Amino acid sequence: MTRRRWIAEHWDEMTATLVGAQAEHMTRVLRAQPGMEADIVAGGRVFHAEVAAVTNGHGATSVVRFNLIAELKADPALPVTLVMAVYKFDRMEWAIEKATELGVAAVAPVIARRTEKHLAQAAEKRVERWRRIAHEAAQQSRRSDVPVIHEPEPLAARVRSASTDTRIVLAEQERSTSLRIALEEYVAAAQAGMPPLELAIGPEGGWAPEEEELFDANGWRAVSLGPRILRAETAAIAALAVAASFLE
Ligand code: SAM
Repeated sequence: MTRRRWIAEHWDEMTATLVGAQAEHMTRVLRAQPGMEADIVAGGRVFHAEVAAVTNGHGATSVVRFNLIAELKADPALPVTLVMAVYKFDRMEWAIEKATELGVAAVAPVIARRTEKHLAQAAEKRVERWRRIAHEAAQQSRRSDVPVIHEPEPLAARVRSASTDTRIVLAEQERSTSLRIALEEYVAAAQAGMPPLELAIGPEGGWAPEEEELFDANGWRAVSLGPRILRAETAAIAALAVAASFLE
């Protein structure tokens, strides 16, 4: 039987601890007792673990402490940062959940010219919720880590920032180069595997012309996902799936 997997909030070399809602679920719903086994994710590593002690508090005071028995093979995330222009929150949150399941290493929300003003203003307050969604999706998909959700920033700051990553912008107007062709070239040129990627997805209204020029002026490569216009969340998932096919 597959042991349940939990992502610990606190850990050291020998033990790990769940607190708050996760501990509450273990104590109240699963009736955790010393000796119960589980897989525990701690700091990007995975361990076969055993419950050592349970404090059945109420609400945030519940605590479950585990002894770490043996380290297990961890599946590394895809070395991909998804740069997502902020758009309709429900759709964006769906994209964060699916990107987490697909193994994304980080999501960088950016404010694009066509990001609706009220969403741009509200984005900062949504980051904690996006981080919770990523944590839950990582736990559900049995990942060994939780993707980083960066603070929202203006698109230009991300585009101009210094990076050694291979930087790609998904451009719905682009027709000459597909994402697959571009990745084939990068994999062929790279010594070991694939260089870390940044994949940028525009908002519902698409990239503004001056944004496409900014990407180009800062060395981002425009690629296509085919002739059809995809919703931003569809483009994000499709791009990650293509990238994952090169990396796994
Ligand atoms: N408003 C734009 C239009 O109608 O042309 C569509 C923007 S689309 C909803 C949102 C983002 O998804 C785009 O900015 C792009 O990053 C990505 N995208 C959608 N379809 C794509 C395609 N066929 N190739 C590359 N990127 C695509």
